[in-house]
Amino acid sequence: MPKGTFCVSKRPIWHHVSGRFAAWRQPWPLPGATLPPRQAGPQAARGRPQAKAGFCFFNIRQPQIFVKLNYLCKMEKFADIKVIAFDADDTLWDCQSYFDDVEREYCRLLAPYAPADTVSASLFATEEANMPLLGYGCKAFVLSLIENAVRLSGGRVDGTVVGELLRLGKRLLELPATPLPGVEATLAALYEQGRYRLAVFTKGELLDQQNKLRRSRLEKYFQHVEIVSDKTERAFLNLCRRMRVAPGSVLMVGNSLKSDVAPALAAGARAVHIPFHVTWKLEQVEDFEHTHMVRIERFADLLAYV
Ligand SMILES: [Mg+2]
Repeated sequence: MPKGTFCVSKRPIWHHVSGRFAAWRQPWPLPGATLPPRQAGPQAARGRPQAKAGFCFFNIRQPQIFVKLNYLCKMEKFADIKVIAFDADDTLWDCQSYFDDVEREYCRLLAPYAPADTVSASLFATEEANMPLLGYGCKAFVLSLIENAVRLSGGRVDGTVVGELLRLGKRLLELPATPLPGVEATLAALYEQGRYRLAVFTKGELLDQQNKLRRSRLEKYFQHVEIVSDKTERAFLNLCRRMRVAPGSVLMVGNSLKSDVAPALAAGARAVHIPFHVTWKLEQVEDFEHTHMVRIERFADLLAYV
C-alpha cells in the first residue's frame, strides 16, 4: 500500500473507490431504512472472489456509515432546539387545494366573459394588488373574486353570480382542516417527548385560522399559537420574544420557502421545508438550499431530525 493513504486495507484506496462511486452518489437513506443488497462487482464477473469488507476506514461499500455521518450532520444542524414552530395551511392541513377548486369554479362562472387562463391571470393580478390593504385569507380572496368579476365583465356580472361567489367564499371558511398524513402522530410523539415547546406560527385571518385549528383537533399539542397578518423576519423575532427563546433555538417547519423558511433563516433560526403538492402563485419563489435548513418529503420524517 502506498504511503500517505488512510487505508488499513491490504488493497490501495482507489480499489475501494473505483467502480463504487455510483453507489456512493445514491441518495442517503434515512436512519433505519432498509438498504438494498450489494451488487456483484467487476471482480465477481471475472470469477474472482469479492474482497470482504471489514477493516477499511473508507469502506464505502457500507452506506450505513454515510447514513450515520449524514444523521450526525443533521443532528448538528438542529442542536439546542427548544421550540418547534409549525406553519398551519398546507403544512398541518390541506388548504390550497380548496382555493384551487374555488378558482376552477370561478373560471366556469365567468366563462361568458373571458377564457379561463385570462380569468386566472386577472384574478392573480387583483389579489396581488389588494394584498397590501386586504392581506391574506378567505375574505380578501372573496373581495378579489368579486372585484375581478366586475372588471372582467365590464360591470355586466349579475347579482346571481355575485351571490354564487359569496357562497364559494363561505365554503372556504368551512374547509375541513383534516390533518395531513403523519401530522397528528408526529405532533403526539413530540408532545410526549416533552423536549420541545410546540407552537403554531401562521398568517391569515384571526378567526378563520382559529376555527381551522379547532376543527383540526390539533390544538392540544401546542403551547403557543400566533396568527399574524404576514410572516416576516420581524414577525418571527416577535414570536421568539413572546416565547422567551433565542431565534437560534427555534426550528420553523413549513411548506413555503418564502413565508416559512426564509424569514426564519433571516432571523437566525433553523428550518425544515416540507413542500406541498400545490403552491399558491404568490408563495412561489426560486428553490434554494441553506446550511440551517433541511428538506423532507413527509411530515413524519421530522422525527428523524429532532
Ligand atoms: Mg403554509
